[in-house]
This record gives sequence, C-alpha cells and structure tokens, in this order.
Amino acid sequence: MSSVRVRLAPSPTGTLHIGTARTAVFNWLFARHQGGQFLLRIEDTDRERSKPEFTSNILEGLAWLGLAWDEEPVIQSARIAAHREAISRLLASGHAYRCYASEAELEAMREGQRQAQQAPRYDNRHRHLTPEQQAAYQAEGREAVIRFRIDDDAVITWTDLVRGEMRWQGSDLGGDMVIARRAPADAIGDPLYNLVVVVDDAAMAISHVIRGEDHLANTAKQLLLYQALELPLPQFAHTPLILNAEGRKLSKRDGVTSVSDFREMGYTAEALANYMTLLGWSPPEGMGERFSLSEAATVFGFDRVNRAGARFDWDKLNWLNGQVLHALPADALLQRLQPLWQAAGLTLPPSAPWALDLCRLLGPSLLRLNDGVEQARPFLERPTPDDSARDQLTQPGAREALAALLPLLPDQATPLDADSARGLLDQAVAAAGVRKGVLMKSLRAALLGRLQGPDLVDTWLLLHPLGEDRSRIEASLGG
Ligand code: GLU
Repeated sequence: MSSVRVRLAPSPTGTLHIGTARTAVFNWLFARHQGGQFLLRIEDTDRERSKPEFTSNILEGLAWLGLAWDEEPVIQSARIAAHREAISRLLASGHAYRCYASEAELEAMREGQRQAQQAPRYDNRHRHLTPEQQAAYQAEGREAVIRFRIDDDAVITWTDLVRGEMRWQGSDLGGDMVIARRAPADAIGDPLYNLVVVVDDAAMAISHVIRGEDHLANTAKQLLLYQALELPLPQFAHTPLILNAEGRKLSKRDGVTSVSDFREMGYTAEALANYMTLLGWSPPEGMGERFSLSEAATVFGFDRVNRAGARFDWDKLNWLNGQVLHALPADALLQRLQPLWQAAGLTLPPSAPWALDLCRLLGPSLLRLNDGVEQARPFLERPTPDDSARDQLTQPGAREALAALLPLLPDQATPLDADSARGLLDQAVAAAGVRKGVLMKSLRAALLGRLQGPDLVDTWLLLHPLGEDRSRIEASLGG
C-alpha cells in the first residue's frame, strides 16, 4: 500500500468554506491518485469559536461532495496531552522559553515599531532572562506565554510541490513565536496552532501537507518546529488562493462562500466538485472541463496546479451545473426535484410516470436544480397568467384561434400524441383564419400563463391526460 497520507484540517469555527472545500478536493485527488489515505482532523482548539454544528456542517459538506475520508476524524482538542508534552520537550531543550511581557508592554513595543515605521514583531526581549529575573516576574504574579525561538539568521528552505524552491529568512517571521497561551508560570497554557499542527501531522504520519498558500509563512515556522522536535518532515504543496471578480481573496463579504449555500442555491455536488477541481488545476489536453472526481483522480498531479490565484467564475460553474443536470436520467432528476417541490409546498405530480415525463421536459433547460421549482409550478398548479400572457390573449386573432382549437380537443381519457396534436393545431389555424404563430403563442399563454417554457406540444401532451388543456383554454377564454 502507498505510504501517502494527506489530511484536511478544518477549524469548526464556521461552515465549510469553498476555499477549504477546494483544499479538500486537491488532497482527495492526490490521495486517490497515489492510492494513499485521505484523513480529517478537526482543529477545535479555539474553544470559544468552535461549535459542534460547524463540525457537522463540514462533515456533511465533504460527504455530499463525494470526498470520502479514510479513518475516524482526529479531534485535535483530545490530543492536548501530546501537545503539552511536545512543549515540555522544547522548554527542556532550550528551544522554547517563558515570556512574561505583559499585554501593555507588548502594545508599547508595537507602538514604538509603528512610529519607527517598522514591521510589527516581537523583539525577543525575554529570550535570555536570568533565573533571578524570572523569579522576580513570578513573584509579581505575572503569567507567561511560551515562545519558540526563531533565530533571525535562520534560513528555511523547502521544495514546494506547487511553487518549487522556497526560501525564508528567520528575521521575516515576526520574532519568537507564541506556542502556548498565557498561564501561571509553572503551567503550560493552551497550545497554539503552529505547534499543534506539527505534533498532530507527525502523529498522523502525514506524508504531504496540502493547503492554501496563505499558510506559506506558517510552513516556514512549522519546519523549524519539526527540526527542534526531531520529527520526520512531510512534503508541502501550497495551492493558489481563490479570488473574487476583483482579484482579491474570496471572502465572506463576497456573499455565497459556504458549500451549503451553493447546495441551497441548486448547485449539484458533481458540478461544484468539478468546478473546484478547475480552480487552480488544469486538466491534461483532451480531457475537457467536464469530468467526475474519480476521472480527475486518475490524472491528478501537482505539475498541473497553477501558482497564480484562481478567479471564481460563476458562468463556468453555471455551465458545468447545466451540463450535469442535462445529463441526469429522468428518475435521478425526479429524486432531486421531488424534495424541492415538497419544500416549496407545490401540489405533487399525479403519478410517477407523469412526473418522469415532466422531468424529461424540464431537464434540458435547467441551469440550477432550484430552477426546477418555478418551471414545474405551472404544470403542477393552474397558473395565474402574467402580464405578457394576458397581453398575448388580447392580441387580434388570439381568442378566435383558441376558440377554434377547443372543440377539436380529444377527451382527456383519449390519448394524444405529438403528430395528432400538430394536426389539430393546423386544423384550428385553418378554421380561425389566423397565423400559426398567433395560435402557438396564445396556446402557450393559456396553458402556462407565461410566454416562456419548454416545447409547446410536449407541454400540451403532459397537461392533456389531466384535462388541464381544456380547462385552461376555457379559463383563458373567460369561461
Ligand atoms: N485549521 C487550519 C485552517 O483551517 C489548518 C491549516 C492547515 O492545513 O494546516 O486553516
């Protein structure tokens, strides 16, 4: 078995964000391509902001997208003993130390840096406290954070699977980094992100860390922690950010950003997963843009992941969603539409075969699943004509044409097929002495209460066995 093990490490402080979901897609594709494992770790160490309902939303969203994971998710907060143990080791080896600087002192330090127009950083002031100085701070009752030493002249390099050779200078990492929150000086406070990620990735034997490029500086810091803790290094791949239409990082302010929002808007899991794969990855020549996750997994590699940010393109997503919906067999479409009809309070179809015919009729014009609610409505319930339909019914020849068709209609129990329906239209046009277009438009207005809709004859054939062709034409003639 392949030793490739990758993970998604979402924080349950919000719903599943499209950026996290795209990171999940790339992790999943890489794992499947390599025959490796795709794991989950719920990073719930921010106790105030983490909520169980967000964990559920994240797991549901991943499952809905088809991103199955391979082992029980690791819950980060359950591993705090291992995190503390690592911090003790760093304290013992001199890689970490207690810093007693108060919030007020740190703020004064930052203010000085602002005035000198320097980048904010911790100035490592408590790195070399003598035992006497420490004792004095403790005697004052000060609490301490624990900081990890980042030497200014450290040079951190790695070969990123997407971005190639990377190089960071220790002095660019903001000074010695806090790895545990403030606590009484003999205790170890809550361990923080960079430390816990390294400890957990190592414990989970993660071979490749695949995450967004907003984590580049974290990777540099984490590499120093791997060295200090003498842990084996994973490989790293940093994926490009998802950008909004203005070319800035897609954020909550851009409106729809949660996978559950996309789902509610009527996007299919297939199209969304397909689209996210294209956000930063170029399929090989000849593959086209419409594919399933499993198809993408057969060819996925980091050589085709772009470095440039990926702009979110609604038109492309809509197009893909339409492609998915148009290709769905009628029974699969019905399965997805039926709950939406129910939720919208629509009258349900009179029979299963009729419902399948309706799906066959509507399917080819759907872009989003939810369009199937409004488009089905006039088939399931008698419509109130809109302005354009009312207007059409007052056009010269409109009433005459419909009045000529009415007596030709077969009884609702007598089946009607497309050929005979077309024949009846010709007869009515001849009898009323109007142009065919007038009859067609007026019939559509009478049947659907609007001038847009699917094929007219198919619409009619669907309404006929319900007797709704006759009653709607009568109603439009003011019957
Ligand atoms: N919890 C972190 C996040 O959601 C994980 C980052 C990582 O993959 O290490 O950004």
